[in-house]
Amino acid sequence: MSTATSVVKRERPVIAIDGPAGAGKSTMAAHLARRFGFLNLETGAMYRALALKAIENDLGFEDEAALLELAATTKIALRPQMEGNIVLLDGVDVSRRVRDKDVTSAASQVSIHPKLREWMVEQQRKLGVAGGVVMEGRDIGTVVFPDAEVKIFLDAAPEVRGNRRYRQAMPGDAAERKVTEAAIIEDLKERDARDRNRQDSPLRPAEDAVILDSTGLTLDEVLAKAEAIVHSHIG
Ligand code: C5P
Repeated sequence: MSTATSVVKRERPVIAIDGPAGAGKSTMAAHLARRFGFLNLETGAMYRALALKAIENDLGFEDEAALLELAATTKIALRPQMEGNIVLLDGVDVSRRVRDKDVTSAASQVSIHPKLREWMVEQQRKLGVAGGVVMEGRDIGTVVFPDAEVKIFLDAAPEVRGNRRYRQAMPGDAAERKVTEAAIIEDLKERDARDRNRQDSPLRPAEDAVILDSTGLTLDEVLAKAEAIVHSHIG
């Protein structure tokens, strides 16, 4: 664990939310943050911001040394809002751009590199060092804050996650919708596989995480269960 987490005594708890893409982690983090007066921090947005800069600089996503060099001169800031985070890359608001398909795919690829992850984890620990945060990502309960007071692993079947994502986004005729939905599901599966199978900090539930599978649950049910989990851990 970093000096930051071991030396500074947290004044308030950390709530860690991990899980695969499209499980609804950001919605849950924003809800819990509002409910308990915490800050919600989307760590995926940091990987996305660096991936965007790699695209802008024409770097290969497999080139860890070049990505690290890039990171050393990069400032990524998250500004928690009621719904999600504003993402600043070197002072520029890239909140929308980082959600584009090319950046989504690039983020998934750059995040496999161990040294780059180390750099990210260090920043993320600084953001959460005083506690009072709901931090969501893939490795929060296992690596970033293994001592988090509350850990939730939010999961759902890929088809359900894909369908929810698709319904948030896409109009179009029936045939087009079917193709789009299938493509979204395939994309989620591909990113999941990369996250689950990478050598460093693979996506998996921490041993002490509460696993919440939202397949078959409504959003209200999921949020109520999450609140109950937080209450049972920190009162
Ligand atoms: O959560 P989001 O989809 O925005 O994350 C973008 C990518 O960043 C993910 O596909 C994942 O590979 C990576 N990521 C990660 N560790 C985190 C957060 C995100 O590897 N803590």
